[in-house]
Amino acid sequence: MEDYLEAAIAAGFKTYSITEHFPMPPKFAEETRGSRHAIYTAAMAERELDAYLEKMTLIKTRYAGRIRVLVGFEIDYFERYRDWTALMLAKYGQRIDDAILSVHFLPAAAGLRAVDDSELDFRDGVLAEYGRPVEVANAYLSAMINAIRWETPNKPHRYGHITLYRKWLQQFPTDTVWSDDTTSQLVNQLLDLVAKRGDMLDCNMSGLLRSTQQEPSPTFAIIDAALKRGIPMVYGSDTHSVADVAQGYQTYVDKQLFQ
Ligand SMILES: [Zn+2]
Repeated sequence: MEDYLEAAIAAGFKTYSITEHFPMPPKFAEETRGSRHAIYTAAMAERELDAYLEKMTLIKTRYAGRIRVLVGFEIDYFERYRDWTALMLAKYGQRIDDAILSVHFLPAAAGLRAVDDSELDFRDGVLAEYGRPVEVANAYLSAMINAIRWETPNKPHRYGHITLYRKWLQQFPTDTVWSDDTTSQLVNQLLDLVAKRGDMLDCNMSGLLRSTQQEPSPTFAIIDAALKRGIPMVYGSDTHSVADVAQGYQTYVDKQLFQ
């Protein structure tokens, strides 16, 4: 963690938010199909929570004055596990500084399926379930809208990578349909909701440098539409290694993807 913070300080950041994946609900492993990798690497275990919070709080204190460290989580939104997530937010919400709410899994007939684990798993799971990429898009955005509408104490006010379903975009023929009128309506509805609530969007730049995606999440067009509504955007690197700490940040600044 210290290496990440040193890299962030070197890159000129004043605030750094640590958002490790929050533990998955108890029935998650049992009710998820497809990639084992997606299931077992999705998050830390619940028993590791206290140690994580203690360790990160210590680091935060140690770095005070050099960089403002926010300790928190990226929390998965699951329609079926909302009650459990609400309990967890009630329990841990006061102990954290920051959090992102995201969707990584969509329901399929046989169980939950990952959206972002691998192209093969995407095709074999959500795409097989929903039929066409545009249907996956609409299902994903609908799930995201439910996440935004959800009311529960200590709920995160920032939503992560709202176009995660486009992660494998470049692996599909260029004439593949990824959006239709419904998609546009859902995007507008989503942005209106976020604006009305005074919530924020995470501007996840990691996809820009990913060969399968080559765009941020949300897309540039959605970022523009969000900024027009006055929605605050927060730069996110989705860092999983020190080299990625400021990935895409120059583009984020150059294109003025913020207010
Ligand atoms: Zn995520």
